[in-house]
Amino acid sequence: MANIKLLGLVVMVGLLVGCGFGEGPIVEGDPAPRVTITPTSLPTAVNTAVPANTTTSPDTAVVADIVAGERSIGDSYAPELGNTGYDVLRYTIQLNLDPALEYELDGAVIIDAVAALDDLGEMSLDFIGFEIDELLANGQPADFRREEGKLIITLPEPLASEEPFQLTIRYQGEAEQEPSPYVGFASWLGLFYAQDDTIYILSEPDGSRYWFPNNDHPRDKATYRFEITVPEGNTAVANGRLVSAENNTFIWEHNYPMASYLATIVVGDYERLEGQSPAGIPLRDYIFPASQSQFERATASSREAIDWMSDLFGDYPYEEFGFVSVHAPGVSLETQTMVLLSTGMFDEQTAVHELAHMWFGDWVSLDSWGEMWRNEGFATYLSFLWEYRDDPDGLELYMEGIRAFLEDNNELGKPLRNPPPAELFSAYTYVGGALMIHELRQEMGDDAFFAGLKNYFQQYAHGTASDEEFIAVMEAAASKSLAAFFSRWLEGE
Ligand SMILES: [Zn+2]
Repeated sequence: MANIKLLGLVVMVGLLVGCGFGEGPIVEGDPAPRVTITPTSLPTAVNTAVPANTTTSPDTAVVADIVAGERSIGDSYAPELGNTGYDVLRYTIQLNLDPALEYELDGAVIIDAVAALDDLGEMSLDFIGFEIDELLANGQPADFRREEGKLIITLPEPLASEEPFQLTIRYQGEAEQEPSPYVGFASWLGLFYAQDDTIYILSEPDGSRYWFPNNDHPRDKATYRFEITVPEGNTAVANGRLVSAENNTFIWEHNYPMASYLATIVVGDYERLEGQSPAGIPLRDYIFPASQSQFERATASSREAIDWMSDLFGDYPYEEFGFVSVHAPGVSLETQTMVLLSTGMFDEQTAVHELAHMWFGDWVSLDSWGEMWRNEGFATYLSFLWEYRDDPDGLELYMEGIRAFLEDNNELGKPLRNPPPAELFSAYTYVGGALMIHELRQEMGDDAFFAGLKNYFQQYAHGTASDEEFIAVMEAAASKSLAAFFSRWLEGE
């Protein structure tokens, strides 16, 4: 994810570096009095217009209750999410979406899964809002109830471990809008109906349960099929590859494992552009013709960056890649294979940041949401590394500037792991994470650092990795302990 406030910070740090951190007097009449914009405290990604009651941790009694019922996938940072009783293999999402029917939809989700426990008689999905008209388990009507963000299903016949099963959930009605405790820059997560008659989705980290029933945690990845019917004149865009578009129904398939927060649908009056990277990776973008030239300027260098990242970390792991333009104020999102690029953020740094997430976050996802520094730190660092790819001294100066900036604002030394939920997407997660990664690279040396990252992707491809698993791979590549380095950054000094 990237948002405008963070980019503002980065641009500002860049300006400070550019003018040497106030060395020498500001020239009178300088049109950019850059030194004077140094904030007294580090700005965060949090939009203060959002209700402030989101800073508390989830109610511990509720959490304990949820965990006791196995209605948690076991992420201690976000114990309200997921379930360990089953493993979803594929979601088939069949929705009718109309930009004129704000926050209303109807359709069905078919879930193909296998039981992960013996004698599985009851299971839960994460799902909030809408009315459920019908719920079938292996074609038989199943009892269900809804509690605490969970759809709890009593299976007609208990399942044995590894037994496959299929759920069909038909639902319609209105989406619910609640602030996420982890996100300050959007008033809610899930569906957004924009004023320009488009529909888009923002789900990171806990928002996909606001538009379809699912096991809402990266630990349970699945493949996807989307069958989206829209009014004439609209295009429906989703992850993966467009397999057909007939009678206003757009069918997309993504046949690689994907975390639920990366699943996306965008509906609007779009034009499709097609191309390929210099090495031949198929590219398709969905744009508004009115902003085509700005879009093309912002994304032009990402065509080369996709090959550059493939060389550094392992081949681009999916069918196709591209961007879909959205009027999402101040936020862009790394939705797998089909990045949401805000029309207000048409710039190279955002495009390359989101592209980097195809590796860092999408291909290998977080085992716990408290490890967000690994997603945002790497995506941020990669956008710097790309910008300064022919200028290592320039990168060094830039990173020194970030270090001095964080020091001046008493941010250095704060633990990067498990921040308070409201600070999950703080600027420190992004630029502090990037600085840590730069210093890790210096600590290991380039050969070991890049070899370690290649190993990391080979080992955890299409799955998740924890911080401990990441550290073990990097220590093996470095042939030395990095325990003191990581403990200083992750746990704080
Ligand atoms: Zn990001």
